[in-house]
Amino acid sequence: MSSVKRRKVDGDVPSGLVKKSKKTAPAVESDSESAASPEPEPAAAESEAPAEETPLKTFKDLGIIDSLCDACTSLGYKNPTPIQAESIPLALQGRDLIGLAETGSGKTAAFALPILQALLDKPQPFFGLILAPTRELAYQISQQFEALGSLISVRCAVIVGGMDMVPQAIALGKKPHIVVATPGRLLDHLENTKGFSLRSLKYLVMDEADRLLDLDFGPILDKILKVLPRERRTYLFSATISSKVESLQRASLRDPLRVSISTNKYQTVSTLLQSYIFIPHPHKDTYLVYLLNEFAGQSAIIFTRTVNETQRLAILLRTLGFGAIPLHGQLSQSSRLGALNKFRAGSREILVATDVAARGLDIPSVDVVLNYDLPPDSKTYIHRVGRTARAGKSGHAISIVTQYDVEIWLRIEAALGKKQKEYDAVKDEVMVFKARVEEAQRHARNEMKNLHEDRGKKGATLKGRRPKDAKGGKRGRDEMDREEG
Ligand code: AMP
Repeated sequence: MSSVKRRKVDGDVPSGLVKKSKKTAPAVESDSESAASPEPEPAAAESEAPAEETPLKTFKDLGIIDSLCDACTSLGYKNPTPIQAESIPLALQGRDLIGLAETGSGKTAAFALPILQALLDKPQPFFGLILAPTRELAYQISQQFEALGSLISVRCAVIVGGMDMVPQAIALGKKPHIVVATPGRLLDHLENTKGFSLRSLKYLVMDEADRLLDLDFGPILDKILKVLPRERRTYLFSATISSKVESLQRASLRDPLRVSISTNKYQTVSTLLQSYIFIPHPHKDTYLVYLLNEFAGQSAIIFTRTVNETQRLAILLRTLGFGAIPLHGQLSQSSRLGALNKFRAGSREILVATDVAARGLDIPSVDVVLNYDLPPDSKTYIHRVGRTARAGKSGHAISIVTQYDVEIWLRIEAALGKKQKEYDAVKDEVMVFKARVEEAQRHARNEMKNLHEDRGKKGATLKGRRPKDAKGGKRGRDEMDREEG
């Protein structure tokens, strides 16, 4: 894999990932009784420390060797983010870690750098295994490993569902240093690919552990853990800590330290401007088009609740001349990667997505998140709006709230702990779009009908179902890393 993304970051450090002061220091606490237990400090990922306080650390200060510091510089990482500043020194001391951090915090490099440094010290095949909940996230992690490890020629293999097993078996046969995998497909290879074992593994990372467990990967993780050597280092990263995450942690980590960059699990960064727009349900499309016009030229993700709606909106917007591309869990793996690549490259500026895209995707510079349909819960809201205002940039998140959504919106506001601003739309300006939107709606309806008929003929249905045996059997296992739209 050579398409390494070299993301330029404005300013020095990603979002809210500001200079460390006593007040902003991330909390580090021992998670076991036996370990030394420093007082956890209050954490606030986005507080702003006065500039004259403690100077920013460098990667070298954290103990990172020169060749990896150079790799960081070439990727535009000037200073470590707080999760990196806290976890890297502990990881280099050989501790197991629990990192409470979200995508966008720089957590991938927080675990990749110590692993690469240890690998350089004692190179060997199958040195590290990274488990991730979704296929896209697995690819992104591998790209970061390859980018950071390019100067030391690190070899990675990505093992995810939806792809042919044979090339993956061949990739494993080449004995990569790092395997990045979704759990279902990895277990398939552990059970069926001759000569493949992880008996010599030194590092295990479980990334987005809460999501892994939400997707019912728990039993598969248990099976994988049984065939890994106990003598290893383990890092568990999660945006939230639930009782399930805690029991996974007990089963897999030894004497871990907990590193957290935020105490409030519903915290959003200060550069994110959030608002809502309260409108009658039948006018949703017209308001959406109005909002897209307001933010013309900016990149946007529109979140919808269903696959069908994602497709319909993409057609509707394209009919109106917007560069919109759908992304959902029923696209083939190559179409999903293709859609994401087009969006990343900027040839399409609007991604219409189900929550499959809400997690883990490292999409640079999304200016606006539009919740066309409200998310089902506050946790998903946080993940959705986390696609903007990253790496210190500003961003907008606007939620369309109709008469049917009031209750859920109030719940989200309560979780955020503050009333959100109402977006100031000028009704007359909105209604200018009405006639054209209605025409595009008719076109989209026809296109959708054709799409349904075509799929009907081919024997597939648009409303794809999870395979019956989604929990344990091989077919189900293979589909588990592909979220439902
Ligand atoms: P992650 O939380 O690992 O998904 O990282 C979010 C984004 O921040 C990625 O695009 C990284 O390339 C970028 N990033 C990671 N560490 C740093 C850093 N120290 N300085 C600037 N950008 C970073």
